[in-house]
Amino acid sequence: MVFERTYRRGDTGPAVAEVRAKLAVLGLLDDVADPLAESDSALFDEATDRAVRLFQQQRGITVDGIVGPQTYHALDEARWRLGDRILSYVPARLIAGDDVAALQQRLLDMGFDCGRVDGLFGVETEHALRDFQRNVGVRADGTCGPATFKALNQLARTVVGGRPHAMRESEAIVRAGPALAGKLVIVDPGHGGPDRGVLGHGLDEAGLVYDLASRVEGRLTATGSSAFLTRGPDGVMDEVDRANFANSAGADLVISLHMDAHDNVEAAGCASYYYGNERLGHHSAMGERFADLVQREICARTDLCDLRTHAKTWDLLRRTRMPAVRIEFGYLTSPGDAARLSDADFRDVLAEAIVAAVQRLYLPQDQDADTGTLRIPVLRL
Ligand SMILES: [Zn+2]
Repeated sequence: MVFERTYRRGDTGPAVAEVRAKLAVLGLLDDVADPLAESDSALFDEATDRAVRLFQQQRGITVDGIVGPQTYHALDEARWRLGDRILSYVPARLIAGDDVAALQQRLLDMGFDCGRVDGLFGVETEHALRDFQRNVGVRADGTCGPATFKALNQLARTVVGGRPHAMRESEAIVRAGPALAGKLVIVDPGHGGPDRGVLGHGLDEAGLVYDLASRVEGRLTATGSSAFLTRGPDGVMDEVDRANFANSAGADLVISLHMDAHDNVEAAGCASYYYGNERLGHHSAMGERFADLVQREICARTDLCDLRTHAKTWDLLRRTRMPAVRIEFGYLTSPGDAARLSDADFRDVLAEAIVAAVQRLYLPQDQDADTGTLRIPVLRL
């Protein structure tokens, strides 16, 4: 089913029936006898709302009780168990699902490096699978079919340990060296075009984060690194395309800029997010380190409330192959945050904090600076 609109409490119809059926299969909704039989009369009731929120919580999706494209796709991916279907690398449209994540975890546990466990059957998963197949004497066709499932089951959990991907990620950072010159950073101002993001106190997120992205870009360029923005002042691009852009550019890092909003005007502060799935127990180690540095630099240099770092599975974090961070700088609905963020000097401080975090990510431990102290030269035009 093509999911073009969003569904929430109070909605009815076949799409709601489908959502309820998927939640029931996952054991999150237990008061449904035959959800598909409900069809037109299916109601997005309070129990559905609770189940959706629980599911979103488990999956690292924004918990809002609303089923839009991302929650719908995650529901669809969650139903697959390893062995349910044949898995292979389909470049045009990567196969996604919990079965792929389970396969990746098995491969990693046995020492076959398939990159990170992201539930997407990409080229690295195929390589690791061929390696595994060669090792166990199954035809090395890179396709996970009956013979491979059997071999996987026989070898299940014989070897556990090692975190090849985490090690490889940090090796890449060390190999890249401390100089920012020559590095490519993708700076992603969220939203754009007709999608203005959140609004508050006469400010709009899309405009503010574009301004901030330009400031970050200027500072990065002054250090000799290259910075690409994912969109122009009025451009539009969806999250998956933004991730593909970063991957095909071969970027070293991705920094996504957002601002938040809340019904409660008291909600305020800055949070940073990295790729991770709490339920499956995976996260990007370098993404977490990068988010931690960004968060610490921002909170040391400003008086924004520290809402800490968190793991999320948002497309931009999940589908990028390099350390990526998404920063939610503050709440436009908070009078205090809005006043800060509307001030150009304050945005300069934020930009400097981000570039300092980028620099620190590449500095060897013994050369690392104290939080809040690193000064980056400002571009003079
Ligand atoms: Zn946003």
